[in-house]
Amino acid sequence: MNDARCRRWLHAALASLSQEAARSADTHLLRMDLEAFPGIAFYFKDEASHPTGSLKHRLARSLFLYALCNGRLGEGQGAIDASSGSTAISEAWFARLLGVEFTAVMPDCTAPAKVRLIRSLGATCVLVPPGMDASAVARERAAREGLCYLDQFGLAERATDWRGNNNIAESILEQMAGGPDPEPAWIVCGVGTGGTSATIGRYLRYRRLQTRVCVAEPTGGAFAVGWRTRDPAAVASAPTLIEGIGRPRVEPSFVFDVVDRVEEVDDADSVAAAWQLETLLGRRYGGSSGTNLVACLRLARAMRDAGESGSLVSLLCDRGDRYDETLFDRAWLARNGIDVDAALVSLGAIAAA
Ligand SMILES: *Cc1c(COP(=O)(O)O)cnc(C)c1O
Repeated sequence: MNDARCRRWLHAALASLSQEAARSADTHLLRMDLEAFPGIAFYFKDEASHPTGSLKHRLARSLFLYALCNGRLGEGQGAIDASSGSTAISEAWFARLLGVEFTAVMPDCTAPAKVRLIRSLGATCVLVPPGMDASAVARERAAREGLCYLDQFGLAERATDWRGNNNIAESILEQMAGGPDPEPAWIVCGVGTGGTSATIGRYLRYRRLQTRVCVAEPTGGAFAVGWRTRDPAAVASAPTLIEGIGRPRVEPSFVFDVVDRVEEVDDADSVAAAWQLETLLGRRYGGSSGTNLVACLRLARAMRDAGESGSLVSLLCDRGDRYDETLFDRAWLARNGIDVDAALVSLGAIAAA
């Protein structure tokens, strides 16, 4: 294949990505006021409203752009990545847009609705047993078959333009700009790749704001364990049922130094909060959105107790209908040791206490 032809394909691929971005609207920043917290406003960035249903839409667009501009993905070449599901859905969608064959390597406990969606986008799913390193499998297959390894866990913090370009932090602050609280007290997010928290933390410093970053993490997750001592070799002390966050080990894109606080949340509380979000917002969101809500309520309680007012911003990370057969199914929850009714009662107590 000659050089001019390679460039033509590359330019067409880049044009497709840029046109997709032009067709996309920004995601809503929903405001919520809770009676228990007068003077404290909650804002939730609805990342479920992306065409591929999660915040991974931003990441997948950035990863393809990064691979193309680094000369790692060319005409006729397939792409592969390891994912707990959401990233693979977005990557499969962008791969189809670009006419690239895509393979997702995922844990075999991934929610079945996600696997169906990825397959319906024309991608191949490779399911690996728990405990097997999906990233290693993806990397090894990429090397053997000449595929482009998109490497979300390795590249998330680099592939996103943290200074601006409508990254998630810039978008949030622009949406807050004309309101009563242009500088939120906290932005709360989860950590999967670590890309979102890195982008937000860097951008807040760059813009010279006082806003602090709180990571909402399943209890015993590797980010929480590693953050305390900045230990890159830390591993999770407990597994989690919450998809997308609570990694078993410290991933290469974790940037501990831009995070001000970590709130550890038990799975039952995350699930109850995801159920509560449906009541509050009239729509289902996934478990990690629930984890975020619990951390927000704890921060709000601390603000209220200290007599402070202000605002908290967090993310609704993905669509809840992906978990109809898991987190929103009482029988599934019971099988996994979650008593959602008890957890709903203790969630209510956080606001009341
Ligand atoms: C990936 C993911 C997160 C965490 O975002 P990162 O930017 O990867 O750290 C949170 N929730 C869900 C559902 C995700 O898929």
